[in-house]
Amino acid sequence: MRILIANDDGIYSPGILALAEVAATFGEVRIVAPDVEQSSMGHAITASRPLHFRKTPIGDFEAYRVNGTPADCVALGCSLWERVDVVLSGINLGLNVGNDCWHSGTLAAAKQAALLGLRGIALSTRVDDGVEPDFDALRPCVHEVLEELLAGGDWPLLNVNFPARPQGIRWARQSVRHYRGQISPQKDPMGRQHYWFGVRAVEETEEDTDRWAMENNLVSLTPLRLDLTDESQLEEMRQKDALSLHGHRNL
Ligand code: MN
Repeated sequence: MRILIANDDGIYSPGILALAEVAATFGEVRIVAPDVEQSSMGHAITASRPLHFRKTPIGDFEAYRVNGTPADCVALGCSLWERVDVVLSGINLGLNVGNDCWHSGTLAAAKQAALLGLRGIALSTRVDDGVEPDFDALRPCVHEVLEELLAGGDWPLLNVNFPARPQGIRWARQSVRHYRGQISPQKDPMGRQHYWFGVRAVEETEEDTDRWAMENNLVSLTPLRLDLTDESQLEEMRQKDALSLHGHRNL
């Protein structure tokens, strides 16, 4: 099995090495990742300037750093390495649950694999108070999850989140809550105003969601899809629209 590994924290993140070491027990591993951190870049691609990569040592793995986004790395990696079977992204330093999925570069790398017709898995873990996650402690759990997921299944895209000390594994829905995208004004050392974007959820956690799993020390596995169409809303709109014939309006 050929396993391409990317992330959004940058190629020198300890999370990508931890993931590569576990993944290597399942197949041939190659790392292609951003040369600098690209967290919260979502599914951005670099279309207005050229991309290049340079070989760089990451443990004992064949690894390349790219002057681009997580999605660029997966596109480039899958183009230059034939017959990639699965793309793993992570392990991200920070959870990607609920609304984080809209901003996450980690998830975007896995999503890029799904767009290319491959399977993609995003993996993220909790970071508390800036303390680096204990990847040695997480390793057996990451192994168990990958063993289960890489064995088969025709899912295109999975989002996996690990609490600091997992007590079990659950299939979970994405938690969709309203959030407050807070902009906090502060002063820089020169006395000039600058701003920080922070996101806070404004509702209670729903049971059986990824966010709920984290609060209960459970690993969450969430299958995602590329088609964002709201099926029930679409049906409702079609029913309401008296001028519509078979879903389209004649002008
Ligand atoms: Mn990140």
